[in-house]
Order: sequence, then structure tokens, then C-alpha cells
Amino acid sequence: MADLKMIVDGKEVESASGQRTQVINPANEKVVGSVPKGTAEDVDRAVTAARKAFKKWSRLTPGERGALLNKLADHLDKDLQRLAEMETSQTGKPHKLTVNSDLPFANDNIRFMAAQARVLEGTSAGEYAPGYTSIVRREPVGVIGSIAPWNYPYLMAAWKIGPALAAGNTVVLKPASNTPLTAIEIAKAALAAGIPEGVLNVVTGPGAEVGSAICKHDDINMISLTGDTATGKKIMEQASSTVKRLHLELGGKAPFIVFDDADLDAAVQGAVVAGYVNTGQDCTAATRLYIQKPKYKSFVDQFVAAVKKIRVGDPTKPTTDIGPLISKDQRERVAAFVDRARKAGIEVLTGGKAMDGAGFFYQPTVLANAKHEDEVVQREIFGPAVVVMSFDSEDEIVQKANGVDYGLASSIWTRDVYRALRLSRELEFGEVWINDHLPLASEMPHGGVKKSGFGADLSRYSFEEYTNLKHVMADLSGEVRKSWHFTVYGDQA
Ligand code: NAD
Repeated sequence: MADLKMIVDGKEVESASGQRTQVINPANEKVVGSVPKGTAEDVDRAVTAARKAFKKWSRLTPGERGALLNKLADHLDKDLQRLAEMETSQTGKPHKLTVNSDLPFANDNIRFMAAQARVLEGTSAGEYAPGYTSIVRREPVGVIGSIAPWNYPYLMAAWKIGPALAAGNTVVLKPASNTPLTAIEIAKAALAAGIPEGVLNVVTGPGAEVGSAICKHDDINMISLTGDTATGKKIMEQASSTVKRLHLELGGKAPFIVFDDADLDAAVQGAVVAGYVNTGQDCTAATRLYIQKPKYKSFVDQFVAAVKKIRVGDPTKPTTDIGPLISKDQRERVAAFVDRARKAGIEVLTGGKAMDGAGFFYQPTVLANAKHEDEVVQREIFGPAVVVMSFDSEDEIVQKANGVDYGLASSIWTRDVYRALRLSRELEFGEVWINDHLPLASEMPHGGVKKSGFGADLSRYSFEEYTNLKHVMADLSGEVRKSWHFTVYGDQA
């Protein structure tokens, strides 16, 4: 049982509320731990600690900060097995996913940021106006309020902590209420690695109270949210009175476009993996499969047969492919989408039902014959339900793929290199894969456009998001009256 405390100013603390919240394993509905139910008062304590720590942390050299982040990654790597089990217990994700993918990738992201801390790129210092030397400084933003979702709790915590700390900021992190455990463990590992107290604080509790207090706090300079688009909108409103910088990674509805010249076996395999990864609770999941007409029937036959073979069940078993949904509410949301689709005449080719027994399991589901305007094509279901559709031409598919509010991820499946590159320009998404769907790299940016938000995660671009630019301009002449002063005062010499 993981009964953990919040981390504020380097100490493990209870909440001012004196209350605790249980953490439930969605695979068996058993309690696996508990955390304090934080309040606005706890946020305030954490912000005070982060502000105090900022001065010293931001003045370390990039190399010193990088070394401490590498030590953090060392601690996390050593504890990988235990942390992967904890991540599985709070999310219901298969252990094979947490131990081989989420956690090692997150630790590599932290190592990348440790190195990136030492590479401040930009315009060279120089004489851009006659008689003056200009210098660009990249400086930390200050105290960052980081708000994370439940679908990749460990990975999202790493995406927020890594670049923020590398750039010299301090952090108050709020994990999602359902999945607070591993974020607290990362903060404990940071202390064990020698990252000073107050640099990384974790306050647990509900979004409406703790998240909202973070957004409204006067002494927080920037909010980084990964979450639903509706939450992003609320956060923009809440952060407006204090004019905070925002970094918003929101929802997605990724198109997966298969042309008739594609390798069909690879496309089917890719669609199963990308459609049902993490039980479909993935912002980049391939939720809209578009197949060019000549290959539609053979694709659908193969795809449905493959989906029927997905092994749903106990996430601790190495043979399990997908686990449950995160909660009863989330399963009801997914079921309601599928029920409404069925009533609207959309065909359910396989699945379409909650599974019996303990745990919030739902069958892997394939929907067909939906119209472009239908909600299962337009809205994020965030569950194991994928829609298959057909198309005729390149123009038509560009319009349909772009015809949603979201703009996070997309993929093109074709052997025609000209077409692949043409479409990668036309698609309005922050990520376009060619003949694959899902992989990310620490060195490359990940982020959305349109209602999927703005700002990048991963890569040097994410690091830059957590810095302010400052122009320092120095006079080289020492003259009282500069040659340009007459434009404001007096006559030209
Ligand atoms: P969510 O929006 O419900 O919650 C995200 C976080 O915001 C949680 O910590 C929550 O407590 C907090 N929150 C909720 N209301 C708040 C408020 N009023 N003020 C401040 N904070 C508040 O999202 P979720 O259900 O945890 O995660 C799933 C969503 O995240 C999906 O929409 C998914 O697409 C998105 N997501 C996006 C990316 C990306 O990279 N773009 C990655 C992962 C997940």
C-alpha cells in the first residue's frame, strides 16, 4: 500500500485540510494507496518554497543543474521496476508498457533536458545597431505551475519537470487526482539526488481546488497543462487576471490515412497498435482510420480480425495488451458514445460493451459507416473505440482529416514519396508520421495546433518555452549626444 505525502519545501507533508484521498487500481477496484487532499493553502506554501528556492537554483550553472538532473535520472533508472509496478497499479496500464516504454522514455527525456540545459542557442552578441553591442540572454521564467493528466502520469510529470528545472525554474506540480503516486516518487528521487528543497514541490488534490489555486496564484509565472481542451479553456480564463504565460497540451483526434498503394499488413498492424495503445486513452491515438476505397474492404476485414485478438485483462500479466479504463466515469463516458452511435445507425463491427467482473474494462471496439459530422468522428472519446471510414481522392482526405477542432497528430500510409511529402505539408497537425503512428523522440518536438493547444513538449523547443528572452543593449561610444538624438530632441549636427 502506497500511503504517500505531498512534497513541499523538501519535506513530506500532510495537507492543511487534514484529509486524504484513496487511490484505486482500475483493474480490480482495490485501494492501492492514498495521498493528502490538498487545498489552496497548500499551494500557497508550495509557491512560497518554490519562490525561495528559485534564487539559488536559477543561479547554478547550467552544468550544475544538468548534473543534478542526470543524478535524478540515475535514481529513477535504479528504481524502474518498482515505479513501473506503482504506475501500473494506479493506472491499470499493462506492466509491459510502463516498464519498457513510459518510464524508460521519461527518464531519457530528463537526461536529454540535463544536456539541453548547457546549450543556450540564439542570436550571437554583436553590433546590430551602430555604436551598440547587443546580447540576448535566455533566463528562467520563475515559478512554474505544472498540471498533469492521468493517462501518462509519470511521463507527463517528466515532460514538465525536465525542461522547467533544466532552464532554472522551480516547480509546483499537481498530478491528476486519480494518479498522484509516481509524481510524488519522482519528487522524492529528486531530493535523494541532491536537487535542493523547494525546487520541485508536489501538491495533490482536485483540479477545481488545487489546480485552480495554481492558475490564480499571483506568484506563479507560468502554467503548463496537459489535459482536456475544456480544461485548457478554463485555465486560460483563470490565468488571465494575472497574465501568466501558458503552455497547453490538449486533446486530439488523430487521422490515420491509408492510400491504396500502402503496405496493407503494416497499416493494419499500425492501426491496432496506435488505435488501442493505453486502452485508447492517448492524445495521439489513431481514432479516425481513413482507407482509400479500393482497399477499404480488405483493410476492414483484416483490422477487425486483428482487433478481436487484442488481449484485454490483468495489467500485471506479461501477455496482456490493454488494461481497463482509468475509472468508472471514463468507462461510462466511452459506453455512452458507443450507445449513441449505435442509436444513430453507426455500425459496431466488434466490441461495443463493458466487460463483466471487477475493473473498468471495455471491449476493443470498431465503428463503421459514420458520417463526417457524427460525434464519434469529431469528438475525443478517449477509450478503445476506433472509427473506420473510406475516401476517394487526396483533396477529399485532406479536407476530412483537417475537418476537426483538433490538430495534434496524424499519419499517412503510402509508398508514394511525393504524396507523403505533399500531405505532410497540407495536414494541420503538430505531428505527421509517414508509414507509422505513435513514436516520439526526446530530441524532437511534440505539440498541437488549433484546439489541441500550443507550445511544444520534448526537444530544445520545449526547453525554450520555459525561458524568457532578454535583450541587453550596451552603448559603446560614451557620447552624451548620440547621432540619433536629434529625432527626439534638438537639431541634427
Ligand atoms: P483533465 O483536463 O480532466 O485533467 C488534467 C489536469 O487538470 C488534472 O490534473 C486535473 O485535476 C486538472 N484540472 C481539472 N480541472 C481544472 C481546473 N478547473 N483548473 C485547474 N486544473 C484543473 O484531463 P485528463 O482527463 O486527466 O487527461 C486526458 C486529457 O489529456 C485528454 O483530453 C488528452 O487528449 C489530453 N492529453 C494531451 C496530451 C498532449 O500531449 N497534447 C498528452 C496527454 C493527454
